[in-house]
Amino acid sequence: MSRIAFIGLGNMGGPMAANLAKAGHDVHAFDLSADALAAASAAGVGTAASAADAVAGAATVLSMLPASRHVEGLYLGEDGLLGAIADGALVIDCSTIAPASARKVAHGAAARGLEMIDAPVSGGVAGASAGTLTFIVGGSDVALGRARPLLEAMGKNIFHMGPAGAGQVAKLCNNMALGVIMAATGEAIALGVANGLDAATLSQMMAVSTSRSWATEVCNPWPGVLENAPAARGYTGGFGNDLMLKDLGLAAEAAMAAGTAIPLGELARNLYALNSAAGNGHLDFSSVVKLLQGSGS
Ligand code: NAD
Repeated sequence: MSRIAFIGLGNMGGPMAANLAKAGHDVHAFDLSADALAAASAAGVGTAASAADAVAGAATVLSMLPASRHVEGLYLGEDGLLGAIADGALVIDCSTIAPASARKVAHGAAARGLEMIDAPVSGGVAGASAGTLTFIVGGSDVALGRARPLLEAMGKNIFHMGPAGAGQVAKLCNNMALGVIMAATGEAIALGVANGLDAATLSQMMAVSTSRSWATEVCNPWPGVLENAPAARGYTGGFGNDLMLKDLGLAAEAAMAAGTAIPLGELARNLYALNSAAGNGHLDFSSVVKLLQGSGS
């Protein structure tokens, strides 16, 4: 089976690389963190001494890094990986980054004759571990056709949104709606509690009524409502407030680039910024409700 390089073995990349290895692929992975490399190795993933070592002879290069600057830093520039990747290899970046950055790297890849897709994901750490991620893809039909068997080893849904960068635009649309819905759900429950309602009963009603959503049913922000939600464990182990803040910032940039209005997205971005400033940046984004808890007279 042809060789795969996987760069970035964090909360998401670690289990994704492990699923590729489990499916029988010859994975050579690299991360700047020795701990991440050791965890990947323990999960059966082959490791490399550097990103350049990982991509040597690889037919496919996957990356799962925090933000635009990491992805541009990895691929572009004089020492960038695009110079080291084998002719004919396919590049798949699964990080959530600015659409403009995704297009920049894709153009750099094209200039080298390499095909590339942006393939950010939805589904969180649980989806990455279970191999049930949704891939949201930008790039050519041909490149997606080549990537499909690998994406299917890590996920269960694949949406082709358009050319390079379109996957990132769609991912930002999803996360902007999620950020707004989570803040609105927390606000509604806080209002109910301040008026004497039981948060769990209110949430059960909302879950079968017109405001039903993932924020109510799966990741309910109020402690004590759902035993498996991050709120039940001090808002640990979910999708970080700082990552949501990053995605809402990217949505704001995309809105400015297109000259469109996102009034609720901008408001939500400010709420998550306040939550970070309150020291909750590392907590699950549903901790945004902490801004409102106990605000009643
Ligand atoms: P993470 O911080 O856990 O992992 C990122 C990893 O990249 C780290 O291990 C870091 O050491 C490594 N890294 C950074 N620069 C590197 C470089 N130049 N070379 C090699 N390794 C490098 O982040 P994560 O939670 O895995 O998220 C990754 C991406 O996925 C982000 O863009 C995030 O927005 C997106 N995402 C995350 C979730 C989630 O629930 N965590 C869900 C969907 C999408």
